[in-house]
Amino acid sequence: MRSPAGLFPTLLLATGLFCLTAVPAQAAPGAPPKAPEAVGYGGAVASVDADATAAGIEVLRRGGNAVDAAVATAAALGVTEPYSTGIGGGGFLVHYDARTHRVSTLDGRETASRTADQGLFLENGAPLPFADAVTSGLSVGVPGTAATWEQALRLWGTRSLAEVLRPAERIAERGFTVDQTFYDQTAANQARFQDFPATRELFLPGGRPPAVGSTLRNPDLAATYRELGRRGTDALYRGPIGADVVRTLQHPPVDPASGRNARPGRVDAADLAAYRVIRREPTRVGYRGYDVYSMAPASSGGTTVGEALGILSQRPEPADPTASLHRYLDASRIAFADRNRWVGDPAFSDVPTAGLLSPAFAAARSCLLDPGRALTSPVAPGDPAHPAACAASGPAAPEPYEGLSTSHLTVADRWGNVVSYTLTIEQTGGSGITVPGRGFLLNNELTDFSFTPVVPGTPDPNLPGPGKRPRSSLSPTVVLRDGKPVLAAGSPGGATIITTVLQVLTNRLDRGMTLEQAIAAPRASQRNTAATQAEPGFLALPERARLEALGHVFTPVAEIGAATGVERLPDGRWLAAAEPARRGGGAAAVVHPAG
Ligand code: GLU
Repeated sequence: MRSPAGLFPTLLLATGLFCLTAVPAQAAPGAPPKAPEAVGYGGAVASVDADATAAGIEVLRRGGNAVDAAVATAAALGVTEPYSTGIGGGGFLVHYDARTHRVSTLDGRETASRTADQGLFLENGAPLPFADAVTSGLSVGVPGTAATWEQALRLWGTRSLAEVLRPAERIAERGFTVDQTFYDQTAANQARFQDFPATRELFLPGGRPPAVGSTLRNPDLAATYRELGRRGTDALYRGPIGADVVRTLQHPPVDPASGRNARPGRVDAADLAAYRVIRREPTRVGYRGYDVYSMAPASSGGTTVGEALGILSQRPEPADPTASLHRYLDASRIAFADRNRWVGDPAFSDVPTAGLLSPAFAAARSCLLDPGRALTSPVAPGDPAHPAACAASGPAAPEPYEGLSTSHLTVADRWGNVVSYTLTIEQTGGSGITVPGRGFLLNNELTDFSFTPVVPGTPDPNLPGPGKRPRSSLSPTVVLRDGKPVLAAGSPGGATIITTVLQVLTNRLDRGMTLEQAIAAPRASQRNTAATQAEPGFLALPERARLEALGHVFTPVAEIGAATGVERLPDGRWLAAAEPARRGGGAAAVVHPAG
């Protein structure tokens, strides 16, 4: 791997990287300290939250492996990041097994009821207003997270579910310190949270968001975790927790005085009992000597990151920073044109996963790239079944809206096993509906379906269907070289997850940055729209004017993603990396620091 030779001094400067490790993000008083980087031995954990990272480290320290620690970290995130994760939601887990050198994945995506059809979000023939769909029982898919934990432990873990849930139980019981990000997320949801008494009681103590620095406890969730530990996930999929989930989504417990019409959902006990975590082959692309593995459909993460990498690998990386960013933006634009047209749940349509990732298709699509001019969106999709240079296949499909919630964690252990795991409840705060007495929010993941075909008259692989999984953007990624792990990374952020992962990978593998620099660097997200979303730091780069001269148009957004990653250094140490600033900064740690 190329050393961080500072090929892009302006990018590095703009991130304030030179003081990054010295100045971790401000933690709330009483909260454990957060560090965006840690280096050492014995295993590594990176997540958005210090308590959650500590839970994973605790399990590693006691001899657990990466999977044990990943579940412990995820369970703790369910307590401290309840608006982004939790057993009311789903996710995708990518696992590298150091013994077999195999990469495997688990699809724990939320699933529509077997009674769902294309009209799920139609009322009197018209699509429901998006906000009404979000805060409803209708948007709740069968949760997959608890089943993912159980299956991951069964396949690759060494500890029981009860044991790895214990640190999270403790945090839920004793409480965690509210930080600014948690306060802001609560405040942004206050209007709908207060309409559901169970949500109000849990997250709006005294009727308002809990103060920064205060302690928030969730004894109901501690009890739920204990029950899962004791009885296994049958308690959720075939037992009393599930009965509560079904009652809640079928009769959303809304305060009658609020006047809110929270539509009932269709998921029932039989849907819960039928839920299966799916073991899928990972996506794999070769990229400049590395093998990049990620999540196959129903996530569009692996195919879209993979297609963009395939397009980029058609030529050597340009030394000029503007040329490099120009290619990154337009490769992403093209990959999104294809993603929006072709990707959905592969159980329901013939998703051309292999075609989207094939070198022939990458070569055909890369023909569109022009070093002297930005592409104009919308770019039309290509046909992966018949790759033809610069050819279009039907009209461009616009990108539907996706929420901005979710959390990514990355874990490695002393044996060299790696987990890259992204989990979500869709929007920040999910459906806004807490299961009374159980301490967790239900997802609104089914709003990731298209409510109506995005291009009238063109087949849309992402319409709702019975037992169907909505298309995702989650992109948990593991990079190998010669069968050995090099790094793993992922991010939240709806469809921007894909561009964040692509940018982090290219920053690290092509632009000479270290992993923590690659994560901290300012981001831009091009998803086949006329304007590219860009963070203030990106807009401050000198390359901005040169990119605009090539025809790129930027629109500012405050923040894109919240990535974490781990990297195996050539001397065998692990490096854990998280955000220095986004989402209040993440938490990276290793078992035995040796920086
Ligand atoms: N529901 C989205 C997905 O699965 C993720 C939402 C988010 O990251 O904010 O792609």
